Amino acid sequence: MLRATHRTRSRARAALLTVPALALVVPAACTATGPPGPSASATAAIAGSAAASAADPTATDPASRDAEQLDTERRVLVVTVDGLRSSVLRELGPEELPVLTRLREEGASTLEARTVVEQTETLPNHTSMLTGRRIDAGLGGHGVTWNTDEPGTTVQEAAGEPVGSLFSRVHAAGGGTALFTGKSKFSLFQRSWPEGLDRYTLREDGARLVALARRDLRREARTVTFLHLAAPDVAGHAHGWGSQEYADAVRAVDGWLGEVLDTVASRPVLREHLTLVLTADHGGSGLGHTDPRRPEDYRIPFVAWGDGVATGTDLYELNEDYRDPGRRRPGYAAERQPVRNADVANLALDLLGLGPVPGSTIGTAQELDLEPPPA
Ligand SMILES: [Zn+2]
Ligand SMILES: [Zn+2]
Repeated sequence: MLRATHRTRSRARAALLTVPALALVVPAACTATGPPGPSASATAAIAGSAAASAADPTATDPASRDAEQLDTERRVLVVTVDGLRSSVLRELGPEELPVLTRLREEGASTLEARTVVEQTETLPNHTSMLTGRRIDAGLGGHGVTWNTDEPGTTVQEAAGEPVGSLFSRVHAAGGGTALFTGKSKFSLFQRSWPEGLDRYTLREDGARLVALARRDLRREARTVTFLHLAAPDVAGHAHGWGSQEYADAVRAVDGWLGEVLDTVASRPVLREHLTLVLTADHGGSGLGHTDPRRPEDYRIPFVAWGDGVATGTDLYELNEDYRDPGRRRPGYAAERQPVRNADVANLALDLLGLGPVPGSTIGTAQELDLEPPPA
C-alpha cells in the first residue's frame, strides 16, 4: 500500500544536491551537536537504522530512493502550537488574530484537521508529526504512549525497531535541522535522533524561544526548523481552554508568528523559498485534553503558507484524496483520511524533494498538495 513513486512537484529548482538516500554518511560537522546524553545505545540504534530500513519491507522501494534530490533552496518551518483548538480561531477572529488570519488568507488551510486517532496528548502527537507514524507500536506505530519527561527513553526503544524521522531523513540527505521547544520532554527527540538534529533549544519562556528561533532563521541555513509554542497549553491547564488566559496565550502566539513573518520578510532566501506549516498536537476543553473522542480535543487547524502554497485555499478543496471529516473522527481504516497533524513529516519531506519516512503510516503516499497540479 505504500506507493514507491514520488511525484515531482511543478517547481523546478536550479540547485539540486544528489544524495544516495541510504548512504550512511554522517557529516563531520554534526558530531559536536549537543550533549550526547545516554545516546551510546541510541546512536548505535540510529547508525543501524538506515541500513535496517533498506531491508525493511515497510520501507519505500529503495530503487525509488537511491538517488534522492534534496531541494537545497527550500526551507521548511514547522510551527506547532500546543493545545490550539480550532474553535478559538473562529472565536477570536481576524481582529484578535491578524497573523493567523493572514496565514490562512494567503495560504492553504483547514480548521478540520485531526490529531492521530489513539491519543490527544503532546508527546505522542509530536512523535507522530516527526515520524509520520500512528501511535500503536503493535500496528506499525512509534509506541510513544507516555506524555512525561522520561530520561533515557528513545522512540526506537518504544517502537522496538529502528524509527526514522523528518530530522534524520533531512540530515541524511545533506540538510540541516533545528528544534526549538518550550517543553523539556522534547529531549526525547534529541536522544532519538542525535545525529539528525543539528540544534536543540529548550526555553520555557515563549518570547525568548521565538527570539532564538528568529535569530537562527536569520543567521543559519537550516533546511527544516521546527518551532513548538507551548503557551496556550500551559494557560489551558492552569485556567481552562475557555478562559481569558487561554485566549491571551493564543493572542501572544499570533504576535510571535508576526515576528517570525517579519524575519521571513527580511531575508530574501526565506521570503522566496520558505514554506511554513502550522498545526497543533491537540486542542483541549475544561482543564485538559485527554479524551481523543472529544471534538474540542481532536479538532485542530492545519495551515500551510509560503513557497509552493496556493493562496486562500481550503486544503480539502485542493485534495480530493483527503476527505473533510466534518465534526467526525475517522479511524485509520477510512478510505479517504482527514488531514492530520501527523501529515507534517511526509509533507515536509515532499516539499524538500525527498521520499517519505521509511515505516511511516500517515501521509506516506505524499499526496497532500498545497497547490493545484500544474496545468
Ligand atoms: Zn500538547
Ligand atoms: Zn497539555
